[in-house]
Amino acid sequence: MPADYASILADIAERVKQRDFQTARNADYIPALAAVPGDRFAMVIRDVNGAEYSTGDADIPFSIQSVSKVFALVLALRSCGEELWQAVRREPSGSAFNSLILLEQEEGIPRNPFINAGAIRVCDMISSRFANPDRSVAEFLGRLSGNPDIRADNDVYLSEDQHGNRNRAIAYLMKSFEKLDNPVEAVVRTYFKQCAIAMSAREMARATLFLANQGIGIDGNMVLSPAETRRINALMLTCGMYDGVGDFAFSVGIPAKSGVGGAIIGVIPGEFSVCVWSPRLDARGNSAAGIAALEMLIEAIGRSVF
Ligand code: GLU
Repeated sequence: MPADYASILADIAERVKQRDFQTARNADYIPALAAVPGDRFAMVIRDVNGAEYSTGDADIPFSIQSVSKVFALVLALRSCGEELWQAVRREPSGSAFNSLILLEQEEGIPRNPFINAGAIRVCDMISSRFANPDRSVAEFLGRLSGNPDIRADNDVYLSEDQHGNRNRAIAYLMKSFEKLDNPVEAVVRTYFKQCAIAMSAREMARATLFLANQGIGIDGNMVLSPAETRRINALMLTCGMYDGVGDFAFSVGIPAKSGVGGAIIGVIPGEFSVCVWSPRLDARGNSAAGIAALEMLIEAIGRSVF
């Protein structure tokens, strides 16, 4: 018998409300993220048969931040194919998402596409292949989610740009190793724009569905081949949750990607995609209520990918 997702989600929302995520805090490196009410919570499940279940603030847009890295990677993969894997490796990093240390040691080749260095290199590849790289990820998410109006929030973009020196440093280091093809400023602009995209949890669950459905999106079109889809899921499982990836696999056990705006996307292949959003982050930069909610979901349905 299929799980009763509607009542599972209602129960999770109630339990999350009663929990006290005292030590968790909104990201505050830019004012726009610090200002979002910390008690916002949304969770949306979209199953492979097209049914959708939601609870909480499911239609309020948030800053997708690093969740964008998954979609930028998919977009780049669709146009570069296997060549992409020459430029970016597939190993968990074990150091901070914006670290420069491994990049120096490994001669400018990023460890994986979900740390900033890897995502910036992916933006470089997008910049070489798309006429309008700054808008390409937003347009792609528009197609995947069924909302063509998805775009970057300009205030968030300007703040990212203003606070972007570390990301510029990463890009210049890659450039110094001749691992970046396009000018640094153009590449980081594309990166800041994709981080600043605003979407709701409902739109995000829809856009993520293809990762649960062998590469087929909500409109029935193939986004990625089944083999490539499995690889993206493997990368999310091993590299998607910052330095908390091991604990997350242990306690939840699904491929997932989080962002400092408080969103986490995840999938159980063959079953459903899920997006949970709540802005307060734990010490590793993952949504505290989001992780708790996903733990409750997995406990309620009694299975993970393991
Ligand atoms: N815009 C952020 C940065 O590059 C992304 C942070 C994140 O969600 O990991 O620093």
